[in-house]
Amino acid sequence: MAPLTNGKVPKSTKMHSKVVIIGSGPAGHTAAVYLARANLNPVLFEGFMANGFAAGGQLTTTTDVENYPGFPSGILGPELMDKFREQSLRFGTTIITETVSKIDLSARPFRYWRESEENDVPETADTIIIATGASAKRLGLKGEVTYWQSGISACAVCDGAVPIFRNQPLAVIGGGDSAAEEATYLTKYGSHVYVLVRRSELRASKIMAKRLMNNPKITILWNTVATECQGDGDLLNNLRIKDVNTGEERDLPVRGLFYAIGHEPATALVRSQLQTDPDGYIITVPGTTQTSVKGVFAAGDVQDKRYRQAITSAGSGCMAALEAERLIAEEEEGVDED
Ligand code: FAD
Ligand code: NAP
Repeated sequence: MAPLTNGKVPKSTKMHSKVVIIGSGPAGHTAAVYLARANLNPVLFEGFMANGFAAGGQLTTTTDVENYPGFPSGILGPELMDKFREQSLRFGTTIITETVSKIDLSARPFRYWRESEENDVPETADTIIIATGASAKRLGLKGEVTYWQSGISACAVCDGAVPIFRNQPLAVIGGGDSAAEEATYLTKYGSHVYVLVRRSELRASKIMAKRLMNNPKITILWNTVATECQGDGDLLNNLRIKDVNTGEERDLPVRGLFYAIGHEPATALVRSQLQTDPDGYIITVPGTTQTSVKGVFAAGDVQDKRYRQAITSAGSGCMAALEAERLIAEEEEGVDED
């Protein structure tokens, strides 16, 4: 498919922009709205199935979003992202439906290449906002594809409250802080929560582990893995689980299964050029979105392993825009903080 733009930039022109945003989830679009309203003519690369997601990001893969403020009756994920996009366009953001596949952050202006033009002369930008998001790791279990979002989820905070999980037995897979947090959260809705831990100990911090183990609505199944997700064709109703020591398999009837085995930040593009933590998340100066390279900002899930919510992503997108705007203004006025 030919790359699409909203008409402002002929594809053959080698662009230079004051600010380029890479990524089209809540973080990228919020940054775009602020920057466009500041007359900085942002260019947003929304990706073409980048990192496995359609333009609009992770929320395009879900149904009801009930915790995004401003929508008291909830809103469908794809519809919410259409609105984000519409708002970016309204103030003059140039949206390009391509994936940025190569980037050079070693000197300013920064250079980057579109996927379709990797061997071409690069386009350039004074500042860049990385808002490429993340994706939840999956296990690839038998039945997983059939029941994904029909009983299986990777976000208890997003999906835990839906009616199919109310007063039903639920399971969480994982032994880290996320698993502890998600299992504890799910006890508000489920009748009981089983936590499948593949080893005989938790990875979670002591305080989180204690909270998990002391909750009477939670049972930890040690040395246990899932082998298959089963259901009635529409909804999940059973997990086949295995004791890794004995090899013994059995049924665990549950209506909900929540993966908490970690996320993969979409940082392949920049991992060798920006400081990242051991899990690949971009490190930012605390309280800001400034990365280890001046002029490069990171917003959304790509720099947040803790909250990973649409609203927190949007919030950090706003921060990135304001910080980029400030840097551009300072540099235009000849102020150099270094
Ligand atoms: P993402 O939404 O991850 O989007 C990043 C985008 O950037 C993607 O479209 C990707 O294709 C694009 N991209 C990546 N690399 C490139 C590149 N090189 N070039 C161009 N584009 C690129 N949160 C809530 O608050 N409430 C919920 O109810 C909720 N439900 C969820 C349900 C599901 C199934 C999932 C998976 C997540 C849910 N979340 C929910 C979490 C929420 O979706 C994320 O926290 C949020 O979308 C993160 O936003 P982001 O802007 O960081 O990036
Ligand atoms: P994590 O710490 O990497 O833990 C992942 C867990 O999933 C581990 O117990 C791991 O088991 C298990 N796991 C991984 N692959 C698996 C597989 N294939 N099958 C079964 N189990 C598997 O990830 P996280 O819990 O998402 O935490 C990420 C980071 O965010 C951590 O730094 C964490 O401290 C932080 N965080 C903090 C809080 C908080 O403070 N409240 C909340 C959430 C997250 P093994 O232990 O055997 O490897």
